[in-house]
Amino acid sequence: MYDLTNRKVVYSLCDEFGFRFKKAFGQNFLTDASVLRAIAEAAGEHGVLEIGPGFGTLTGYLAENAEKVVAVELDRALFPVLEKTLGEYDNVSVREGDVMKIDLPTLLKEEFDGQEVSVAANLPYYITTPIITRLLEEKLPIRALVLMMQKEVADRILADPGTKDYGALSLFVRYYADASLLVSVPKESFVPAPKVDSAVLVLMRREVPPVSPIDEKLFFGLIRAGFAQRRKTFVNAASSAGLPGVTKEGVAKALCALEIDEKVRGEVLSIEQYCEIANFLLKN
Ligand code: SAM
Repeated sequence: MYDLTNRKVVYSLCDEFGFRFKKAFGQNFLTDASVLRAIAEAAGEHGVLEIGPGFGTLTGYLAENAEKVVAVELDRALFPVLEKTLGEYDNVSVREGDVMKIDLPTLLKEEFDGQEVSVAANLPYYITTPIITRLLEEKLPIRALVLMMQKEVADRILADPGTKDYGALSLFVRYYADASLLVSVPKESFVPAPKVDSAVLVLMRREVPPVSPIDEKLFFGLIRAGFAQRRKTFVNAASSAGLPGVTKEGVAKALCALEIDEKVRGEVLSIEQYCEIANFLLKN
């Protein structure tokens, strides 16, 4: 097994293959063995889909622990390196593709049909939120997501109502998954070091959401509106967001019926309250 946690090994592979780190692809490779082990253990022993294997550092740890690993990588320049670093594993396959565009339902069916699957990734920073949104919203047959991301995004996901980090992302993730912090990771654990610290979150997909909106579109529309203009009262923010059928009078009536202060701001409403408001608006 290549010791890719050793920076000298990483740099000598760069020299050997003429590889240069691409900032545009979010290429910051992880070199902390204890974090790599923790991610592999959390991802589990069955099937693992990895996003962005880079030089194959995390891939190797996943392959030691899981039955099968499929890694999707966008940067072609990494393929010759991966052939070398992952050559010894017969339970790993690497596919070329953009995780935002690839047909994930078909890939999961072809590669893991019937097998329990987790996603593990040291995410490219430039598309952290779109990837999380895609993986959760598409309701794919995935048990857990074990994801390294910027600490700031992790804080937003874990935030509680009324705190500065609480936002639409906190509620979106809460609806689909049960999120917890696995480990905090300082920027020095990567090569090259990014500008910000990171954290690994485990998002366990929920079988059933914690609330039951009659219309998910309206529910998420109200959430987006509630946080888009944080200074506005929720009544004004929701009624000026262009949501079909949502009027100022209707929202005020919903708040009154649900015994919520009419001057409330969207940033203090809980997921339960957003759902109650959305359902009230539909029924009345
Ligand atoms: N897994 C490696 C590690 O932990 O050291 C590399 C992680 S690096 C932060 C992100 C990786 O994602 C890079 O290999 C990058 O080329 C790849 N990547 C960037 N955008 C991607 C995309 N849209 N689809 C798939 N892979 C992508």
